[in-house]
Amino acid sequence: MIRFEDVDIAYDGMLAVPGLNITIEEGEFFTLLGPSGCGKTTILRCLAGFVPNSAGRIMVRDRDISRLEAERRGVGIVFQNYALFPHLTVSENVAFGLRASRTGNAEVRQRVGDILERTGIAEHAGKRPSELSGGQQQRVAIARSLVMGPSILLMDEPLSNLDVKLRVAMRNEIKRLQRQLGFTTIYVTHDQEEALSLSDRIAVLNRGRIEQVGAPEAIYDRPETEFVCRFIGEANRLTPTMLGSSGAAINTDTPTFVRPEHVRIGVPPAGHLHLSASVEDAVFLGPLVRYSMKAADGLLDVIVSGAEARLAIGSQHMLHFPAEAVLRPQRTVQ
Ligand code: ATP
Repeated sequence: MIRFEDVDIAYDGMLAVPGLNITIEEGEFFTLLGPSGCGKTTILRCLAGFVPNSAGRIMVRDRDISRLEAERRGVGIVFQNYALFPHLTVSENVAFGLRASRTGNAEVRQRVGDILERTGIAEHAGKRPSELSGGQQQRVAIARSLVMGPSILLMDEPLSNLDVKLRVAMRNEIKRLQRQLGFTTIYVTHDQEEALSLSDRIAVLNRGRIEQVGAPEAIYDRPETEFVCRFIGEANRLTPTMLGSSGAAINTDTPTFVRPEHVRIGVPPAGHLHLSASVEDAVFLGPLVRYSMKAADGLLDVIVSGAEARLAIGSQHMLHFPAEAVLRPQRTVQ
């Protein structure tokens, strides 16, 4: 178990992460998600021992590791740019850390061979990084960390250099490896879909502070703050007029939202909130169509299946959604 207890992390006296409290369970796939500059990498570097915490404690299995040197923390790290040695082969790259720690030849061979098999790159063992695809290089970077047998693996935007298809394939691969080998993973990304698809739990960060921690479904379906609601997916802000047209007595003191995919177009069933709007724009996305709908006092995005009827620009329709689809994040973060 990893526990950050009231941890402050500062650069030159400037607090980048103030008062961090998180607990990460053994074997968990935990993601730090947030926009650029919110402190994700800083938290990873602090846990890895590259940046000191100026206050608080970092506990790993009930031991305070805050003052322990990086090499002795049992933490592996995979960087965005892979950081492979270009003049070494795949095997030599993977063996590097073991050799540096003076592991015997026979054990190096056995551990490197084993991890190359598990990460699916054994056939490339003799190649240099420049002879590998981006996805293969990423696997080497992961193998190089895992061969050291870390109980914790930190991954900092490990897929951001890959094209979309490969990113999705590698995502599944990382998840498979993590399940198979059981190491605790802390993963950093600013990509919501990546976070939702990979994680057991996600911490959404904004300006160095945690806005919400929870399972992907909980974060998406029940965002606690307006920032989380908007960052983790798309959200239409509902105005009192839009809600009032249903005769619904909904309190609009706090910002109120509905996700585009929860809005339906057509005759509203009894009990659904509804409003009238015209098609301002339509974008065909293959399996889905995204409509921008003009209501009396604002635009709403609506996403429907591409198999449904195409609507003409300017045509007038009813939009509706059940009251349960209305999101009302209420918490404010200091
Ligand atoms: P990105 O997604 O862009 O990598 P991030 O969420 O990982 O962003 P960090 O790199 O952790 O963000 O940066 C958090 C804050 O700390 C930012 O305001 C950044 O400018 C500052 N910061 C990061 N590294 C340093 C450094 N070496 N010296 C001074 N300030 C830094």
